[in-house]
Amino acid sequence: MAWDFSTDPEFEEQLDWMRRFVRTEVYPLETLGLSYDRFLEVIKPLQQQVKDRGLWASHLPPELGGGGFGQVRLGLMHEILGETPYGPVVFGNNAPDSGNAELLAIGIASSGRESQRSRWLEPLLEGTMRSGFSMTEPGAGADPTMITTTAVADGDAWVIDGHKWFTTNGSVADFLIVMAVTNPDVHPYQGCSMIVVPTRTPGVEIVRDVATMEDPVEHFGKFGGHAEIRYREVRVPYENLVGKEGEGFVLAQQRLGPGRIHHCMRWLGQSRRAFDMLCERAVSRTTHHSLLAEKQTIQNWVAESLAEMTAARLMTLYAAWKMDAVGASAARVEIAMIKYYGAGVLYNVIDRAVQIHGALGFSTDLPLESMYRHARAARIYDGPDEVHKVTVARQTLKGYAPVAVPSEHVPTRRAEARERFAHLLGEATADH
Ligand SMILES: Cc1cc2nc3c(=O)[nH]c(=O)nc-3n(C[C@H](O)[C@H](O)[C@H](O)COP(=O)(O)OP(=O)(O)OC[C@H]3O[C@@H](n4cnc5c(N)ncnc54)[C@H](O)[C@@H]3O)c2cc1C
Repeated sequence: MAWDFSTDPEFEEQLDWMRRFVRTEVYPLETLGLSYDRFLEVIKPLQQQVKDRGLWASHLPPELGGGGFGQVRLGLMHEILGETPYGPVVFGNNAPDSGNAELLAIGIASSGRESQRSRWLEPLLEGTMRSGFSMTEPGAGADPTMITTTAVADGDAWVIDGHKWFTTNGSVADFLIVMAVTNPDVHPYQGCSMIVVPTRTPGVEIVRDVATMEDPVEHFGKFGGHAEIRYREVRVPYENLVGKEGEGFVLAQQRLGPGRIHHCMRWLGQSRRAFDMLCERAVSRTTHHSLLAEKQTIQNWVAESLAEMTAARLMTLYAAWKMDAVGASAARVEIAMIKYYGAGVLYNVIDRAVQIHGALGFSTDLPLESMYRHARAARIYDGPDEVHKVTVARQTLKGYAPVAVPSEHVPTRRAEARERFAHLLGEATADH
């Protein structure tokens, strides 16, 4: 096996096209303040161009209309898409629809329930339906084993009761994939399942979109909102089960692995954009008789940001490569590492870019303030940083055993070395 950091020329050409297309066709849309429905109309011709290039819904396997690119190439593509919040939707892989499509595809393969393909999966892929992923509860987030939402089988139906929040796009979704306890007698890892719930089902109450740091103004039914939802005796057909009973956590793991790699690469696209703004300002603004670029603090920011972004990029591409080579489970530590490291880099680079612009950076005249508010969430969603650190530390520490004396204790090692090399040491002594 060869070590190689280059991208094959044919694929590099696709990436070049994506870069040009995103910057010239998608960036300008950011400034127009379009409603989501209007935006969807406006981007249709752009989406067609993406389809014509064979880049639509690239995260999916070829049999579902995706490119079968593998995680490394997908990562490189997401780095470009992440430069603008509109990139993913123009390329047919915006969250949570992209992850939900993958979940449904995996679930159909596992259960053989083909009816879900035309009912849910295909409309999601075509962009004619929207979805939400409803797992987090006010009392169960970082530790999803505390989920209390239940789904009880009753004849040929499930009856669902529970309270969720932060279901992204829940208030504009056509259906929700709900994580619920279906067998309370076993550990949640074996006792939870995912079930498709159409939002119009009686008993589904979309309480509100929770106003957040991303969007502090109360809205309802807005794309990108995070919905609080009550499920009260919600009856859906048994066949709405995704995969098999008790597979909820296994499915969640399969969905989250690649999703995290794509998140991290999109964060790198955002970081790069903030970094470019930082550097542009450094060479443009003079204060106290010199350019900002000539001041050591600013030089430190440039140097540290570039090193951090390069490290995050290599870590992420390595995680992607490992996932392609040996699977998500074996790449668990690498995926967890990039989640917290990448989120930290994103946050730090944007913060420095805000700072170097002074009041302008704080204002809405630049996209930095919005990028900054969105970046803060990256340290929380998809599992908070601390939980991923626990995973990395636990897995790493499994490789170590307790000792009475540290392995590197010099006096102990010296005594062992003297004994081991006694014959040579004796001769050496005699020589002198
Ligand atoms: C923008 C955004 C979008 C989201 N979208 C969705 C979605 O679409 N669907 C969905 O189901 N959920 C979604 N979530 C919810 C998200 O997954 C949860 O917020 C996340 O899992 C953390 O759960 P929690 O908020 O309940 O925090 P808690 O579980 O209350 O944890 C709070 C804090 O405690 C600390 N902590 C927790 N566990 C440990 C530990 N083991 N060791 C050390 N410290 C620890 C961490 O600092 C953590 O931030 C979204 C969240 C955000 C912010």
